[in-house]
Amino acid sequence: MTEHLMKILIVGDGNVGKSSFVHRYVDGQFNKTYKMTVGVDFSVKLLHWSDKEKVRLQLWDIAGQERFISMTRVYYKGALGCVIMFDVTSPSSFRSCRHWKQDLDNKAMLPNGQSIPCILLANKCDLAQRVVSADSIDRFSKVNGFITWMETSVKENKNIGEAMRRLVQEILSV
Ligand code: GDP
Repeated sequence: MTEHLMKILIVGDGNVGKSSFVHRYVDGQFNKTYKMTVGVDFSVKLLHWSDKEKVRLQLWDIAGQERFISMTRVYYKGALGCVIMFDVTSPSSFRSCRHWKQDLDNKAMLPNGQSIPCILLANKCDLAQRVVSADSIDRFSKVNGFITWMETSVKENKNIGEAMRRLVQEILSV
């Protein structure tokens, strides 16, 4: 049995659903008032990937440091994958994804010099007042080098496991 250890970063503006995402994925719950403590470093999830492989995921949620927009290199160190999340009802959170991706590409690199696999998540797709169109997300995702993008709803548990599996699959294939 092989066990892979993967440090995964979860970034994006405040209030887009990052802590809820991690909580849902790791503990299977959605709690409206859930808020991760500032300073908690990471959550762990063990995936039984195949008969021969396990994946131990370390999920690093930036937990309240979003306002600094630019993270320290320590946070990025050793990361093998990244989730960049925005809220489909917030155009400004979508615009910020460009900065998050640039910051990631400037500060983090795989040992082989390639940029870190990164998936773009359009969260809160359960809400009727969504304003960011699928077309613009698609274009943005391609131009900025994301592996792919997906609509998610942490509230309705839509595409959470799927998104993480897609990212892990990409990391294993690098
Ligand atoms: P963070 O600051 O990015 O970590 O965001 P939080 O996880 O604290 O979530 C911010 C708010 O959005 C909370 O009130 C969550 O309950 C809510 N939220 C998170 N995901 C969803 C979702 O998929 N749909 C809806 N409707 N609300 C969500």
